[in-house]
Amino acid sequence: MIYLDYNASTPCDPRVVEAMLPYFSRHYGNPSSQEHAFGRTAASAVETARGHVAQLINAHPQEILFTSGATESNNLAITGVIQANQAGRCKILTTKIEHKSVLEPIMRAAEFGYEVDFMPVDSTGKVDLERAAELITEDTALVSVQAANNEIGTVQDIKALAALADEKGALFHCDAAQAVGKIDVDVDEWAVDFLSISAHKLYGPKGVGALYVRGGRRRAPLMPLLFGGGQEDGLRAGTLNVPGIVGFGEACRILLQSWREEAQRVSELRDRFEAALAERIPTVVFNGHPVERLPGTTSVTFPGIDAEALIVNTTDLALSTGSACNSGALEPSYVLLAIGLDRTRAYQTFRAGIGRFTTSDEIDAAVEQITAAVERMQRLRST
Ligand code: PMP
Repeated sequence: MIYLDYNASTPCDPRVVEAMLPYFSRHYGNPSSQEHAFGRTAASAVETARGHVAQLINAHPQEILFTSGATESNNLAITGVIQANQAGRCKILTTKIEHKSVLEPIMRAAEFGYEVDFMPVDSTGKVDLERAAELITEDTALVSVQAANNEIGTVQDIKALAALADEKGALFHCDAAQAVGKIDVDVDEWAVDFLSISAHKLYGPKGVGALYVRGGRRRAPLMPLLFGGGQEDGLRAGTLNVPGIVGFGEACRILLQSWREEAQRVSELRDRFEAALAERIPTVVFNGHPVERLPGTTSVTFPGIDAEALIVNTTDLALSTGSACNSGALEPSYVLLAIGLDRTRAYQTFRAGIGRFTTSDEIDAAVEQITAAVERMQRLRST
């Protein structure tokens, strides 16, 4: 199998696994147990990891709150802000191409009386900044925009959007699950209030992530989702996932040293993939922004070729369609519909995610298999 689904999840880097192992077997103390060395060893490992996560996004360690992943971070930022809303502001702004873990808590807020509005995106998936400037008003409590899209890879101008929110006194949350470790994410320069990260998208383990909180956890304008032992300054109760956090920290430490080179190498592989597909099947269409995009993501449409059928016909490749299964019926990707593809085109689109362990031989083999399958399907259609 050739793995081309790095946006869904990355393999855990072997160095990350190595760093985690002692925290399952030898250093198993609870970091809240400060009375003994077991607990203190675990706590110190958590703080080292917090430092690495913070450094990767140019934050202070006190601004990093560990969670179970970007889903929880997104839920905490959105629901936590809404529940703590002192200013009485009643509007939430987002886009239609956010991950469900942003859209669902926002839709729940609507049930509690918030007015939800969507800033339009163009056919490349970019948020229209002029419309955003009009839509963000003194009534806006929160603006939530992703740094990069998981299906089409389009990267947003978060610095400009966060500045618009700041001008009107609204809080700004950014889901950066797909961006951290792939593009330059700098919370200081972007001046966001909250930013979500997931470890399993950056060669760390699953089930761990973080929420960056501007100005530090203690001053966060957030109502917690979980109550109990008061961990993470009372913002996220529950015994810390020490091995997971250690792995997350190690993954960030590795990226600190290597993300630029890695992004360059991965984008070259993606360009090789796209160029070879375009040469072999000239009708191919690539979705998303041509330049402002993630290095390893490509969204590919072969007009007339059903993407699910194509995936079934390329059994050695791990690709993804982004379609969602709702009560047994496959629904086309809402992201593709939001950037203007019709349902047919959306069904004819798949995503390839390229990453750290992808080789050029794998790219060439994938191109061979995809083109052979497309040609076979085209022949079948014309007979
Ligand atoms: N946001 C985006 C943009 C994502 O791609 C994902 C993962 N698919 C998430 C949030 C959720 O992350 P997690 O799996 O860590 O809950």
